Amino acid sequence: MKLEQLRTRYRQPLFDLISQSRQIHLEHWRGEEVQRCSLLSIKTGGCSEDCAYCAQSAHYSTSLEREDLLSIEQIVDVATRARAQGATRFCMGAAWRGVRAGTEKFERVLEIVREVGALGMEVCVTLGEIGPVEAGKLKAAGVTAYNHNIDTSPEFYPEIVSTHTFQDRLDTIAAVQASGMSVCSGGIIGMGESEDDRLRMIEILSELDPQPQSVPINCLMPQRGTPLENQPPVDIFELVRLIAVARIALPEARVRLAAGRTRISREGQALCFFAGANSIFFGDKLLTAKNPGVDVDLALLSELGLNIEAVSRTTSTTDTADSESILSSFTDGSISDLKTVVPNQPANKRA
Ligand code: SAM
Ligand code: SF4
Repeated sequence: MKLEQLRTRYRQPLFDLISQSRQIHLEHWRGEEVQRCSLLSIKTGGCSEDCAYCAQSAHYSTSLEREDLLSIEQIVDVATRARAQGATRFCMGAAWRGVRAGTEKFERVLEIVREVGALGMEVCVTLGEIGPVEAGKLKAAGVTAYNHNIDTSPEFYPEIVSTHTFQDRLDTIAAVQASGMSVCSGGIIGMGESEDDRLRMIEILSELDPQPQSVPINCLMPQRGTPLENQPPVDIFELVRLIAVARIALPEARVRLAAGRTRISREGQALCFFAGANSIFFGDKLLTAKNPGVDVDLALLSELGLNIEAVSRTTSTTDTADSESILSSFTDGSISDLKTVVPNQPANKRA
């Protein structure tokens, strides 16, 4: 959808906008549950890139503890527990600029993917920049979806990152598309970008062919020590408007209300779901910040009637705390679906 059309939609009175996005949402997603996603950080911190929002960048002094690539045993252990809790997809993220075929770490990732895939779950990864060779090998090893966020508009991107380009991000997405893996790509708001930057991001995502199957919308979680540590919170109605235009422009994508939910009221989140969000991060802890507690989320979803059965009683706060040292949710895309019961029939295709 073109920028001009997005602007027109975005600037309508709020209730007109969300009436339209709600209509589209119902056409494509009626009866579908809100997807609950949790991710495992398999390599944390010490990243060569200078993304101004990111606590994992080695360019900034943040309090984040670095962690090398986890062992296969550690990862399989977490994945097995996730499966026991009803997960059908398991995502792993690494704080790398990217990864190249032929390196030891790439071979280890392939092995990890095969082992996790053997557990019977879909496998998703976010490893930074890759090319066609890596994408093909990941797909062959069993990866279902690859997350790579464009994060903002091409015009604003150089203000946020200098160590790689917006085009680098698009090239990786193209390689992922060509390999047949599904694409998860979205961005962050609240970094000082303009309304047009946000809409340009939606324009570019919606014009990808095929469109991404999954679109995370993160609200910046300011990280102490990063250049964006003092950014003010995002206005809730701006977030709702952006979710609504994302739903209109990307009708078949999972639109994920991703990082930043701890700063959004229950009512604000309800409005986001009404406007078209249908996925959240699930788990008490994001990589470098808090996420709403599992019980709090389950209560909210249940009160809203967005799904009718708790994930599983085994996903208790005790279990979450137990796995907290290594199981952390990334503030980005790929996902693991935890068991849900769908009240009505889903509409059509799924990511
Ligand atoms: N290194 C890989 C990459 O850049 O694609 C994967 C990991 S990185 C943590 C993935 C995404 O997390 C970023 O693209 C960004 O959207 C999101 N993210 C990171 N820090 C964030 C923050 N402080 N607030 C909101 N979103 C954040
Ligand atoms: Fe590195 Fe990814 Fe963080 Fe950028 S967003 S600093 S590439 S981990």
